[in-house]
Amino acid sequence: MQALQYEPETWRADAECERLGVPTHVFFSDDLGDIAQAKRICTECPGLVPCLEGALGRREPWGVWGGQIFRNGRMLATKRRRGRPSKVPRPEDQLPVVPIPVHLQSELRSA
Ligand code: SF4
Repeated sequence: MQALQYEPETWRADAECERLGVPTHVFFSDDLGDIAQAKRICTECPGLVPCLEGALGRREPWGVWGGQIFRNGRMLATKRRRGRPSKVPRPEDQLPVVPIPVHLQSELRSA
């Protein structure tokens, strides 16, 4: 794993999840609606990069951090399937796509 750059945790004061008072369970849920909501909140967060760096560094076991889904300490890809899109999209295909900062893309794992 490449060396991650940790920044002072002053960004937490501006974290979107804190500012909006979002219930914690939204970020730690198996429900796709909750996961989508969490990812959308993260897209507006000024602390997205240090949040994601911190989650990777701590190998967070679970949840949405920095707009990405974590399971068993790893950041998972939410890949679209190959081929023609289904007439009825799978719910997981409708999750918001949050770009991963270039310096963290090597940490991505397939589900
Ligand atoms: S990136 Fe998401 S989980 Fe991290 S502090 Fe911001 S809103 Fe909260």
